[in-house]
Amino acid sequence: MEYTVQLNSLLKLFRQYMNDDKDVTRFYARCRDGTATYKDVYDLADKAGVKMSDLLKKQILDQFPNGIPPEAVDAIIPPALREQCDAVIAGADRVQAIVNKKAGVSLAPAEMHPDEDRILGLADHFKESGFTDEATELITNLAKATVDETIQANAEFQNDSGMQVTVTRVYDDVGLNHGKDPCQWCLDRCGENVPYSTAVDMGMFERHPGCGCRIEYHTVKGTKIQSNWRRNVWMDSDAILKWRRGLGLE
Ligand SMILES: [Zn+2]
Repeated sequence: MEYTVQLNSLLKLFRQYMNDDKDVTRFYARCRDGTATYKDVYDLADKAGVKMSDLLKKQILDQFPNGIPPEAVDAIIPPALREQCDAVIAGADRVQAIVNKKAGVSLAPAEMHPDEDRILGLADHFKESGFTDEATELITNLAKATVDETIQANAEFQNDSGMQVTVTRVYDDVGLNHGKDPCQWCLDRCGENVPYSTAVDMGMFERHPGCGCRIEYHTVKGTKIQSNWRRNVWMDSDAILKWRRGLGLE
């Protein structure tokens, strides 16, 4: 493993940063006192993405002035990006537990893993195009997409469990061309309290590089039961879970 030393030193620096940075420390303090929100996880993802991109440039790419060879990309980029995704997933998991508790949902957060397709796609992109100026945006986009995927997985799970889930996507006000033009693509995907399945159809969970939109979802504590014999009966989320467990559905 020719590039193990470089990879390990990069991972070490990234972990140190995610341990010591004052904003990250503050984020985990807010997780402990139960005030952290998904907006905070998006900020965490932003920091992780910018830091990882910075480390890749300084620690790895500077060693290859004539361009990074494909073997080095394969050896270093996917594990580095997995590390970044894991850091974001750890933060998102903490916030999801808070969100569930506040919504009265007695479910554990959905277990998330780094998105291998996205990671390998990004590694291929770097092999083909090199580490261009847009690399930071692409790496940060992967970090934010990790948050999107966590939110969607939990929203879907709760929706499928018979709860009323709605999705809100807030426009980032960043727009295109350095703020000169509004981003119609994002505006078409923004909305407030949109029912989960409509939100998926609208593409509310999709994101382009450089996109700063924030997504969140809400679970209504009262739940409409879909079965015939109890149509339109509203129950507490805990009650419906017990009821579903009784039927062997959970
Ligand atoms: Zn946009």
